[in-house]
Amino acid sequence: MNQKLRATGKCLCEKVSMTTADLSGKFGACHCVMCRKWGGSAFLSIGCGNDLEITGSEYICVFKSSEWANRAFCRECGTHLYYEFSKNQDRSVPLGFFDNTDNLIFSHQIFTDMADKKYSFQEDTVMMTEAETFARYASKEEK
Ligand SMILES: [Zn+2]
Ligand SMILES: [Zn+2]
Repeated sequence: MNQKLRATGKCLCEKVSMTTADLSGKFGACHCVMCRKWGGSAFLSIGCGNDLEITGSEYICVFKSSEWANRAFCRECGTHLYYEFSKNQDRSVPLGFFDNTDNLIFSHQIFTDMADKKYSFQEDTVMMTEAETFARYASKEEK
């Protein structure tokens, strides 16, 4: 269950390719307003930390979306590539990006109080409101 799973994915135009040596076993959803605006709905992503090997980085456009994070996309085809904490370059990659994600488990949802009420996920996950999300991650990521 805990063996390392190497996974690779490419953007739609295939100019950018990213590989993680250790696809973590879990993914989460972010319901914040910015994520929903960025991708059209809740942002489902895999935390890859600093474990990302990137080719075609000259095609990557990085947008500073807040004081603490950047969002990257392919300048050629617009595919979303990662959300990144500015301080430590911890990156989260969209769930749909990698080719091989069958073993991943939906584990947590953050900013649940900002969620679009028109849909919900049936999986039983950890649920964190905005306050709970900041309490959990801000101390680690911000300070
Ligand atoms: Zn592309
Ligand atoms: Zn978000």
